[in-house]
Amino acid sequence: MKIAKSFLVLLLILSISVLTTACSNNSQVVLPNQPNDQQNSLKIYTTFYPLYDFTKKIVGDNAQVENLMPAGVEPHDFEPSPKQTAMIYDGDIFIFLGESMELWAKKMAGDLDKKGVAVVEAGKGLIENNDPHIWLDPVMAKEMAQKIFDGVVAKDPEHSEVYQENLNNLMQKFDELDKNLNEIISSSSEKNIVTSHSFLGYVARRYGLEQTAITGLSPQEEPSPKKMAELVEFCKAKKIKYILDEPGEVSKLSQTLADEIGAEILIINPLGTLQPNEVKAGEDYFSVMEKNLEVLKRVLSYEQ
Ligand SMILES: [Zn+2]
Repeated sequence: MKIAKSFLVLLLILSISVLTTACSNNSQVVLPNQPNDQQNSLKIYTTFYPLYDFTKKIVGDNAQVENLMPAGVEPHDFEPSPKQTAMIYDGDIFIFLGESMELWAKKMAGDLDKKGVAVVEAGKGLIENNDPHIWLDPVMAKEMAQKIFDGVVAKDPEHSEVYQENLNNLMQKFDELDKNLNEIISSSSEKNIVTSHSFLGYVARRYGLEQTAITGLSPQEEPSPKKMAELVEFCKAKKIKYILDEPGEVSKLSQTLADEIGAEILIINPLGTLQPNEVKAGEDYFSVMEKNLEVLKRVLSYEQ
């Protein structure tokens, strides 16, 4: 009887200690030499998808990267919640594009810097005429990635070697994309594209396309009825067969124009955000760009 009692006590002590270990797992137990050690690694916040994806590809598991904009949200009019703002102040690095995309971030940047949060403005010196869509041009995306890399290494020089290796791999992928875009566009006779909003300006300029957009630099800049009528005339004159719209709901304006000129609507992803189903499918910037290239081939009547 006595033995059985002390056995029970032992069992109780054992189970309590197991319970304590389990509870402290998240906050206390630190395994040495774990590359993705959540305790000491940098906490990086990015504003929207391409910045998140490029940063993640550079840091791998050596830092925690969190994207502020939820999947499927229209990136041009996003603003962070007060809770997210507090999170940014708690982070080590904050990465945004520029005032043409995130005016709120530009306003916060100086104060963040004073409070010891390193700020990376990835579009600095790259954005022209208030057009934020530089990430779709792989040559400019390389410069964005370089700025992100510089900002991360300045804060975490210990991992600079692995970050450099990751950056090199990323740069190679951008070079490949640049080569493919160049090949497709230079060998196509059709040069006119009509987009829902003006997201392909940099790509058009670099590779020699003529972009006509239904709305302006953001989907919120809607055209006047007069501008819409001019668009219809333009598309008829140029024999436009396709309208490039974005994932999510097809815009009424795209549908109206397509109906008016007998064009087909094709979906291209400007990568300001991934849709929830794309996140689930494990898509990233490059896999989506591959699909975008297939759509472009069709629009430009590309033949290999
Ligand atoms: Zn856009």
